[in-house]
Amino acid sequence: MTKRVLVIFGTRPEAIKLFPVVRALAVRPGLTVRTCVTAQHRGLLDQVLAIADLVPDIDLDLMEPGQSLDRLTARLLVGLGEVMDAERPDLVVVQGDTATAMAGALAAYYRRVTVAHVEAGLRSGDIYHPWPEEVNRRIVAPIAELHFAPTETAAAALRRENIDPATIHVTGNTVIDALLWTQGRIAADPALAGGLDGIAARFAGQRLVLVTTHRRENFGEGMAAIARAIGRIADRPDVAVVFPMHPNPEVVRAMDAVLGTRANVARIAPLDYPHFVRALALCDIVLTDSGGVQEEAPALGKPVLVMRETTERPEGVAAGTARLVGTDEDRIVSEIFTLLGDSDAYAAMARAHNPFGDGQAAARIAEIVAHVATG
Ligand code: UDP
Repeated sequence: MTKRVLVIFGTRPEAIKLFPVVRALAVRPGLTVRTCVTAQHRGLLDQVLAIADLVPDIDLDLMEPGQSLDRLTARLLVGLGEVMDAERPDLVVVQGDTATAMAGALAAYYRRVTVAHVEAGLRSGDIYHPWPEEVNRRIVAPIAELHFAPTETAAAALRRENIDPATIHVTGNTVIDALLWTQGRIAADPALAGGLDGIAARFAGQRLVLVTTHRRENFGEGMAAIARAIGRIADRPDVAVVFPMHPNPEVVRAMDAVLGTRANVARIAPLDYPHFVRALALCDIVLTDSGGVQEEAPALGKPVLVMRETTERPEGVAAGTARLVGTDEDRIVSEIFTLLGDSDAYAAMARAHNPFGDGQAAARIAEIVAHVATG
């Protein structure tokens, strides 16, 4: 009898990091793979599903505008529990640090179902940065019986928490699998990312800064400072800013209040993954508070300035491609201007490294999951 594996996800980054795992599991004999999306982020999730040709078996469609973390968590726990009662999985796969991952792990634990955690062991050491993700992932750790740590640093963090070392596997981060797969698709069919042709032509000859921001803990004064910094960067005629804007109203409001319309700032809708991968390739510098983008930029040799006080991804900083700049307006502006004006400083950061993986993480994960599930 085949064993049933249920893969659960709800947001854009989870979908990007799990579609390679779903593909790798699907070709393993002895497994029936089912996917359940919670649609914690509806629109952004659907963009990834479309490009990865992934049709979820179950779609809970749990997104409600402006819902509190309490209500979201409660609905996720009940909804995912009902799915597990109907599906009767032998093993549940969750990824990262979202409310979906945390509630999915808990619902599985209540049913004594084995949990596998992809991207296990990331720790900032500060429960309010990133908030609430640091606690979400810490809650998954004691529940999971398989921990797929992207790096040795992440594995060491789990061992420090007394997780059984025999259950920890260093696999690399599946985001690198997703990135390389998508680059291959774009190379075969450039039209997949052709929507950026206009921007590439419009800003030819200018230095490009790619910006993303969406972190909850930056809402308010942090977001206003980021907006002012972008404005000052765009005061330079030799620079253009490409800014796929997260649809969260907090982000949109802060940017509208400061930035207005400027010829050299392209504030655009969130890009689907191939277009974002092309934007990464086109740009000179990345300015972001995203987790996943911190992992992708080093793989492409793009200096990445991280608008956070701490990071659970120190490997990019250690490799020299990433630098923490927080949300101080002057600091952001001066770091960008240094990179633009000092070619040695730029070259020191612009070296391609793959501290986060070699693109084979999903295959390793699928092999171990198959081994454990089929006994
Ligand atoms: N991303 C995307 N389109 C965009 C911006 C980001 O596809 O317009 C991708 C990006 O390549 C990365 C992921 O979304 O893989 C990061 O998601 P996000 O920043 O929302 O979440 P985090 O990684 O901070 O949890």
